[in-house]
Amino acid sequence: MGYSASAYLVYGFKCSKIDLQTVKQVRGCNHPQTGGKFCPECGKPMFVEKTETIDLDYGYENEKNLALYSSDYESYERVVGFVLGYTDSISEVNMPTPEMKKALLDFIQEHNLDYNEMHLAVKLILHHSY
Ligand SMILES: [Zn+2]
Repeated sequence: MGYSASAYLVYGFKCSKIDLQTVKQVRGCNHPQTGGKFCPECGKPMFVEKTETIDLDYGYENEKNLALYSSDYESYERVVGFVLGYTDSISEVNMPTPEMKKALLDFIQEHNLDYNEMHLAVKLILHHSY
């Protein structure tokens, strides 16, 4: 054991913990759904808003999928994106692809996040452990 540090290049968008939540409309009770605003059987709202944390795994150096990266630099910033390269293998840095961009924009849209194409960039993630 001992100190180890690594840096990743990640293509994606920077976010805070609160940004990775999504508000969903869920049924207010278990009775059959009708077109009304309230349930005719129990009087509860047909739909209620529920805030959910988006379930996204932390990424690692060879991650191929969209993942969450946490940086120890600049107050523990977090980035959602694709890893392009990392310090142990810096000779092989990938470029962001249109597929990555589409996946990021789909993710933003799917979860109704307040981000857009302008927020996508290559970020440096610094990670260290003792
Ligand atoms: Zn009901």
